[in-house]
Amino acid sequence: MSAEVIYGKELAADLRENMKKEVFELSKKGITPSLTVVLIGHDPASESYVKGKQKASEEVGVDSNLIKLPDTTTEQELLELITDLNEDGKIHGILVQLPLPNHINEQAVIEAIDPKKDVDGFHPVNIGRMMTGKDTFYPCTPYGIVTMLRSKNITIEGKHVVIVGRSNIVGKPVGQLLLNENATVTYCHSKTKNIKQFTQAADILIVAVGRAHFITGDDMKEGAVVVDVGVNRLDNGKLTGDVDFESALEKASYITPVPRGVGPMTITMLLHNTIKSAKQFNNL
Ligand code: NAP
Repeated sequence: MSAEVIYGKELAADLRENMKKEVFELSKKGITPSLTVVLIGHDPASESYVKGKQKASEEVGVDSNLIKLPDTTTEQELLELITDLNEDGKIHGILVQLPLPNHINEQAVIEAIDPKKDVDGFHPVNIGRMMTGKDTFYPCTPYGIVTMLRSKNITIEGKHVVIVGRSNIVGKPVGQLLLNENATVTYCHSKTKNIKQFTQAADILIVAVGRAHFITGDDMKEGAVVVDVGVNRLDNGKLTGDVDFESALEKASYITPVPRGVGPMTITMLLHNTIKSAKQFNNL
């Protein structure tokens, strides 16, 4: 078997084309969705993510403002800035790029953002809404993954989903979203014994570990749907996923590549959430 590759990049381009039209319609009502990104310090990966978010925002007509702060910024200064952004009626989405410098309490910052502007979907209020199956801002990477599965009409209900990785931004929420869709979900993590016994039982295998080629074709069952969230840079400078693509391609029925897989979907769902927020603020 050779799997069908799900290119997030192509799906993201289609979705952004529709968003462009939606933003144009909103502009006729005098509404411009507006996202403010706060970036602290000079982490190259964060700078690159932020650049990608700005470019994508411009592409669909979302107003994107970047506030760059030095890594000497105190937690108090950041919290005060967030209060100002929360109160600014022109801003619909606030995103503080993570990770933050060690002297700033990440959770305090996440909780300071108005849940109505939390387009990253990390605020406990929005996580709670997601947990209880309510409509809310879903975290962008998990929401992007579910959207990719839906785009191929892949059945989720009744399927056994195995997730390797339980981070708050990927593993845990993607499991919750798929549980909401009536999947049976198993989480694996660094303390799981004999991971292979779980991954080989997966109908849908989602890998978000951050280790190049952690999962190979041998770790999955014939016909599994494989979603590779990992982004790892090899010594030769190339990006690669957590899944060994070549061996998995032979075994899976569907597989997402790295790059051009989950990554472009993450940014697209951020735009989706920002547009959703703009509509909610305008009672649309
Ligand atoms: P993270 O916070 O570092 O979490 C990694 C998870 O993997 C943890 O739950 C950890 O278990 C587990 N793990 C680590 N070593 C393991 C092992 N040997 N066996 C089993 N589980 C193991 O990472 P993350 O933020 O979720 O990101 C994961 C990957 O996805 C990274 O490569 C990141 O760059 C990528 N990512 C991509 C996107 C995108 O848009 N494409 C978005 C976010 C992240 P413990 O909990 O037990 O420590």
